[in-house]
Amino acid sequence: MKTIYLDNNATTRVAPEVVEAMLPYFSDRYGNPSSMHSFGGLVKRELDGARERLASLIGAHPDEIVFTSCGTESDNAAIRGVLECYPGKNHFVTTRVEHPAVWNLCPYLRKKGYRVTELSVDRKGRIDLDELRSSLTDATALVSVMYANNETGVIFPIEEIGAIVKERGIPFHTDAVQAVGKLPLHMSKSTVDLLSLSGHKLHAPKGIGALYVRKGTKISPFLIGGHQEKGRRGGTENVPYIIGLGKAAEIAKERMVEEQTRVKMLRDRLESGITKLIPNVLVNGDTEHRLPNTSNVSFEYVEGESILMMLNDLGICASSGSACTSGSLEPSHVLRAMGVPFTAAHGSIRFSLSVYTTEEEVEVVLEHLPGIIEKLRDISPFWKDAVEGKLRLRQTG
Ligand code: PLP
Repeated sequence: MKTIYLDNNATTRVAPEVVEAMLPYFSDRYGNPSSMHSFGGLVKRELDGARERLASLIGAHPDEIVFTSCGTESDNAAIRGVLECYPGKNHFVTTRVEHPAVWNLCPYLRKKGYRVTELSVDRKGRIDLDELRSSLTDATALVSVMYANNETGVIFPIEEIGAIVKERGIPFHTDAVQAVGKLPLHMSKSTVDLLSLSGHKLHAPKGIGALYVRKGTKISPFLIGGHQEKGRRGGTENVPYIIGLGKAAEIAKERMVEEQTRVKMLRDRLESGITKLIPNVLVNGDTEHRLPNTSNVSFEYVEGESILMMLNDLGICASSGSACTSGSLEPSHVLRAMGVPFTAAHGSIRFSLSVYTTEEEVEVVLEHLPGIIEKLRDISPFWKDAVEGKLRLRQTG
């Protein structure tokens, strides 16, 4: 059975060109970039090349790139590293819909004595800029707002947010793990001071990430050790993976406009097919400001997990907006923050496409999904109640 992979916000396939670029650094080119000899020097030059390619993708200067092990490390390093530089300030502002790499830092920071503001979102997953404005005080040490949400794809107005934050002279971090490689970014013209990214979301391997740190931004080192990464993160560099990330960045930059236009077309075809063929479907999030590859759809009165399992039986990979915790299916914190109704949040599925997604794959999903939902609704007590409720309404109305 052929796999139809529509879970690219979880992770992506490593591009064959990326694998090819990495291979020599596992075998012949194993020198340490910090070594004085030319065997290490060659690796150092290639590492610098990868840094330039990644910087170019996000419109930054190569010196502003610090390689890390993943997006989570970049988020932690940015937030904890900046807060440490402002011991007199104890206020951190973020949103209710961040990825756990930021969101789970909130209880940790509260325990450490910080006041944390988690900005609310509306039904479409958008923050209120006035709420942001009024949350900022002289004690605010850092604001962190994600560039695009991993579950819904909703894109935040990062430059507007940044302008409000910078007006108060406060450092601004964005978790752009889902945006890099999908959206054009220009850090040199941006209000963002720190930006997190992760290789495995843009066809590089898992276990490599980076943090953009604007020149002049105060930040403590993430790992204290050697002089690598200009003393900001000690430890011998993960050379093959950095080379891979550099190659993935180069490809993303070259093909972004063309590929992301195609991906968006396929996503729109999938979404319009679903909403046309299946009744009681809601598309979650602001569809006007959304990543081109993401569609979060709620199938009312069915459980997301059951849909996923039936898709899985057909080789179709997607993910659901609820997490199975201790036997109860809790909708995700993102959908809860958006106020998606219980009966819809439980049946939410995220489809996330990539440059490798084909039209045929989208058609296969559209061929099978209506039958899956119909079957599940046939055995759903909620659906039965809903239909009967409607019938009663119709009869009495
Ligand atoms: N931030 C966002 C928005 C993400 O989607 C993810 C991964 O899903 C991360 C951070 C964490 O990245 P990593 O898996 O590289 O730690």
